[in-house]
Amino acid sequence: MTSPLSLAEKLARTHDLSGSELHTLIADRTDETRAYLQQQAGAVREQIYGSRVFIRGLIEFTNYCKNNCYYCGIRRGNDKAERYRLTEDDILACCAEGHALGFRTFVLQGGEDPFFTDEKLVSIVRAIRQGYPDSAITLSLGEHSEQSYRALFEAGADRYLLRHETATKAHYARLHPPEMDFDRRMTCLEQLKAIGYQVGCGFMIGSPGQTVDDLVRDLRFIKTFRPHMVGIGPFLSHQDTPFRDQPNGTAELTLYLLSILRLLLPEVLLPATTALGTAAGDGRERGILAGANVVMPNLSPVSVRKKYLLYDKKICTGEESAQCIGCLTRRMASVGCTLAVDRGDSLLH
Ligand code: SAH
Repeated sequence: MTSPLSLAEKLARTHDLSGSELHTLIADRTDETRAYLQQQAGAVREQIYGSRVFIRGLIEFTNYCKNNCYYCGIRRGNDKAERYRLTEDDILACCAEGHALGFRTFVLQGGEDPFFTDEKLVSIVRAIRQGYPDSAITLSLGEHSEQSYRALFEAGADRYLLRHETATKAHYARLHPPEMDFDRRMTCLEQLKAIGYQVGCGFMIGSPGQTVDDLVRDLRFIKTFRPHMVGIGPFLSHQDTPFRDQPNGTAELTLYLLSILRLLLPEVLLPATTALGTAAGDGRERGILAGANVVMPNLSPVSVRKKYLLYDKKICTGEESAQCIGCLTRRMASVGCTLAVDRGDSLLH
């Protein structure tokens, strides 16, 4: 049988592995393969993006959601969630604060909230586009019609994050209620790409029922789909969801998969996520060392941060944005990196 270390070497050399090779690389991982992949992925990140880490200002503008994903703390069935919506003016104030702090990407993220019609969303995107012509606008608003995606693109949005959550249909059905459809989500990703967005997909590590085969399908899907960005983080349980008693995903496996992703798609934008920073105190720093090159600090008003809880114990819910930047600057410096003040577009063609 091929050793995991020789497969890691093959991955570093060829930037590709078959499904069965990835299976062995994950299932039979050792401290040795972990160290080797981290070193190789860190070197590729350094070679392509240098020691500059891109920052994205995350504006969590609504926690109302019409969906009922079993893992998510803002699912519609969670009647303990205290719901809020930001106004267009609130959102623009977040952008103003963020721009002054050096952010050149704004990420609007929220639940699927029917209050925000296309008309309202287009107006928000247009206002940000007009006010900040030098900045990228990223949307993370879940599933919408092709027509809505197009209208938002034409209004000035550049990027769209829509995690596929899992590339295995049966596993998707384990994580979502029957009215949510795997094929529809995948179709959304195709449409977003065809419209011209820079697209991000992604998945949780250690979500209930996830097998190594599922992870292999995620990686093979990503290699073929070639997204500009891939967001991954550990599944973390939320006390008011059906998955309250499910074990959390680990930082260890998340870091390992970050390294594999960096080697599979060298130019991809890879965030060291807040969930990773929640699972381990130094998770984001270790994420950078493992090959990540993006961090997404919170730009939401402090007054709503504790209400946008997708999982328990989320970090960075008490600080002002300026404090977050100071903290992250120090954290990144501890691993030899600086925060970059620019749009940080993907180098993937
Ligand atoms: N409504 C938008 C934004 C979702 S929140 C959408 O559907 O795309 C962004 C991501 O957080 C989700 O895609 C999911 O992968 C992740 N997430 C949700 N609940 C989580 C949990 N309990 N633990 C870890 N990540 C979670």
